[in-house]
Amino acid sequence: MHLGHASTYLLAWLQTRTQNGTLLLRMEDVDRQRCKPEFADAWRRDLAWLGLHWDREVPAQSDRSPAYATALENLASQDLVFACSCTRKDMEEAVRAPHEAWGAYPGTCVNAGLPLDGPYAKRLKYPEDAFVLQRADGAWGYQLAVVVDDGAQGVTHVLRGVDLADSEAPQRFLHQALGQPAPEVQHAPLWYGPDGHRLSKRHGSVGIQDYREKGWTPEKLWGQVGQLLGLQEDAKEARPEDFLAAFARQALRTAPIRPAEGLPLWA
Ligand SMILES: [Zn+2]
Repeated sequence: MHLGHASTYLLAWLQTRTQNGTLLLRMEDVDRQRCKPEFADAWRRDLAWLGLHWDREVPAQSDRSPAYATALENLASQDLVFACSCTRKDMEEAVRAPHEAWGAYPGTCVNAGLPLDGPYAKRLKYPEDAFVLQRADGAWGYQLAVVVDDGAQGVTHVLRGVDLADSEAPQRFLHQALGQPAPEVQHAPLWYGPDGHRLSKRHGSVGIQDYREKGWTPEKLWGQVGQLLGLQEDAKEARPEDFLAAFARQALRTAPIRPAEGLPLWA
């Protein structure tokens, strides 16, 4: 977990605490190559150290395959799914007409009639973006997993990074197709590293664990983060509950957070 994740989870925590809500912890681990079980333990440990206690942990996405399969069948029964044999290379080479629909997908297989039970990826017939519901290797697509879980787990509010803003419309489409209400979505600012790229592991010691090992206390870290998020005027030591009043009072910052603003964090 790095600073950006912690900052977004803080905002979700504040949202539930100011609206008398229930904060869920969900391990979104559909990508089995990237998500190792020990990462989930590290996240729980970091959140607990930061004082961001969740009310309920719901099943990890890696345990939800049957629910995703049922949803896929439901969509297929509405003729909203097509099989796609395109490789990444095919898609790069396909020449797209300027006004063609299907988003980033060139539309090659939409009317090809490939069988849905064949060894192909399954895509949604969603004209804005025919995204993958299930990969040819059986892995579930992020959008499907999130929407099915949100519906099953009664999620009413979502607060996530603004990098996922483009997911809102396709997810709303999926919610509607599956006959369930779509949650209200808000977006949190993204964090950037010193090289101008999105904050990530390759920026070195930006993990919550790194700060802990360098002797930072959660209060010192929240002081800095709270100031950057505009939840307090200076960087004085703070706990998440100290930000409740400011969070309830003001609009969420959406502008990206750049290193120059929070120099002590990068020292
Ligand atoms: Zn295709």
